[in-house]
Amino acid sequence: MPEAPVQSGGVATLEYEAVPAVERDEARGPLGTVVMKFGGTSVAGPERLKEVARRLVSAREAGNRVVGVLSAMGESTDDLIALAHQVSSRPVARELDMLISVGERISCALAAMAIHDLGHEAISLTGSQAGIVTDTVHGKAKIVEVRARRIHEALDDDRIVLVAGFQGVSTAYDVTTLGRGGSDTTAVALAAALGAESCEIYTDVEGVFTADPRIVPSARKLHAVSYDEMLELAASGAKVLQLRAVEFARNHHVRLHVRSTFSDAAGTWIREEDERMLEKAIISGVTHTYEELVYRVRGVRPAPLFADLAEAGVNVDTIVQTGDEIVFSAPADDGTQTAAALERLGVDWSARDDLGKVSVVGAGMKSHPGVAARAFAALDDAGIDTEIVSTSPIKIACHVRRDDVERAVATLHEAFELDAPEAERAHA
Ligand code: ASP
Ligand code: MG
Repeated sequence: MPEAPVQSGGVATLEYEAVPAVERDEARGPLGTVVMKFGGTSVAGPERLKEVARRLVSAREAGNRVVGVLSAMGESTDDLIALAHQVSSRPVARELDMLISVGERISCALAAMAIHDLGHEAISLTGSQAGIVTDTVHGKAKIVEVRARRIHEALDDDRIVLVAGFQGVSTAYDVTTLGRGGSDTTAVALAAALGAESCEIYTDVEGVFTADPRIVPSARKLHAVSYDEMLELAASGAKVLQLRAVEFARNHHVRLHVRSTFSDAAGTWIREEDERMLEKAIISGVTHTYEELVYRVRGVRPAPLFADLAEAGVNVDTIVQTGDEIVFSAPADDGTQTAAALERLGVDWSARDDLGKVSVVGAGMKSHPGVAARAFAALDDAGIDTEIVSTSPIKIACHVRRDDVERAVATLHEAFELDAPEAERAHA
């Protein structure tokens, strides 16, 4: 077992990434450094890698100091994990990290070669070489420090620097990975450490939408979202950014621009809240997830229950207690650990896997009454029952029957008029 993550358990959106000690070289100044992160689909084959190389080169030719952070090609992280499971039923966490950190190195080495062919200097670096120091929690390590000297030196030498995403080196000198989707966090951490103006996240969608366009074809691309909204969106099912990357960006004031690799269109900015966002639309979006189990537990007090779940590394989300019954939700991925923890406690428990969760998120809820009334009226009209309701100051989340999830998303999207142009929050 890896040692228990320091911040496991608790409500995901309240977790706070430790502020890493960042070696910042004030003399070099922040201007002109861009961090550009490309996701797995963007580097999925040789042609796409060459296109990414061209993008990085044109940013360099525009006069920027360029740092590229790349994900592993296509689904190769999944393939490596599957391979590990063919060799071992319970791959040792340290070795799994050694294995899966390779995917990002492949992308970076190939991109560096392609950049050389375009007549520019480039260097690829592993997370460790790039100075990304983490704690020792394999599989979901947290960055504790960024020692950016080597990157600065390479940039000073006029090179484009390619950093393997998703990984670092632990304080015990082992290779660690940052959790699925962790290249986003690498990019944000480097943007903070290098004092970059913003961090460009290139991906296979055009930005953050008011709902999943596959469910709601009239969903709109948001121009701007606040950090807090993006945290809630990411925590409640929006897949576009790793939750921890958003926390990190908020804590370090890094502005993110989520945009498509395949077009030049502007995407979605994630930044400090600003009145102009809210005067256009109080709700930013409707998210959903199917990947949660809902547990009902009796015969245990919350303190030992959640201590045990935290110990087991279970990331608990919604918690509701009534009398001696506690209901909570947790990721389906943590199902085995959750069941084991509940068995250890010897409590009376059951789990439901037939529910999904639909959430309405918007910073404007803080100051506009009536959002809950409108949401429940709409669900009622559509004949959708809510099983568990939980809220934060800027979110209303409802667990509904899984079969009702898509209809609930569409219903709420319509109820808050998110298909109207104002929902985009565009402004000059
Ligand atoms: N390749 C890793 C993953 O699939 C990290 C990333 O893409 O951000 O989770
Ligand atoms: Mg991703």
